[in-house]
Amino acid sequence: MGRGYSDVMRFMSAGAGITGRGILDFLLPPRCLTCDTVTGHKGHGLCGACWSRVRFLEQPWCLRYGTPFEHEVGVDALSPRAIAFPPAFDRARGACWYSGPARDLVLGLKFARRRHLALSMGRWMARAGTELLRDRPLIAPVPLHPRRLLQRRFNQSADLAKVVASLCDSEFVPDLLRRTRHTRAQVGLNATERQKNLRGAIALTPDAGSRVFGRPVLLVDDVMTTGATMAACVKVLKQAGARQIDVLVFAIADPAGMAREHGAELKDKL
Ligand SMILES: [Zn+2]
Repeated sequence: MGRGYSDVMRFMSAGAGITGRGILDFLLPPRCLTCDTVTGHKGHGLCGACWSRVRFLEQPWCLRYGTPFEHEVGVDALSPRAIAFPPAFDRARGACWYSGPARDLVLGLKFARRRHLALSMGRWMARAGTELLRDRPLIAPVPLHPRRLLQRRFNQSADLAKVVASLCDSEFVPDLLRRTRHTRAQVGLNATERQKNLRGAIALTPDAGSRVFGRPVLLVDDVMTTGATMAACVKVLKQAGARQIDVLVFAIADPAGMAREHGAELKDKL
């Protein structure tokens, strides 16, 4: 067979493939979710250059905080931070550090209303949280205050939680928790100020108590910084008798990076 034949076959099979989704890809080729370069593949949604800049959180990691260790350690090891400052939740996991393209995805979803990003982000999260999803927990987003919900028109954490729940066949409970009062933005506050800002700001929705009792709950948010918001949610869920409370976020803020942004004082508290 000459080269002409294989060219014809390639042309014919390409023609046969251009149906439905194929036509859509031909007219609107898949683009990188952060830099908009044509990727030519559907995969994880990022081009090679952006993908290589994502700082994924890989095992071995701290059992409680989900932050990776630089050296090989035993199973279920705890980081110095988890020993010094045990978190309110049982286990936290995140897909990546909050930097570079991962940060762009978070900001794109939250502020640019690019809600389709939640699909790829939720897939990454489900992979990172495999061990948390085994018990089929109730999956609930960290709530937004109604005023902020009105401004933004959607809760980005609820979008992510919905995708994660659909991937592991767990129950998605978008209204498990609610904000009882408006709180000032957490950006620029240190850990103590964040806790104070959130005191009494989160409650269980009136009929949610009976659903939570004795059940594992997975709280979902886009980013975890000091974990103060999570701690406020966990407190409420513990009071309602939740059996296990885990946390799954898209990105975890790197304490060293946060310290560079907010000063050395914060580094000690993270
Ligand atoms: Zn890219």
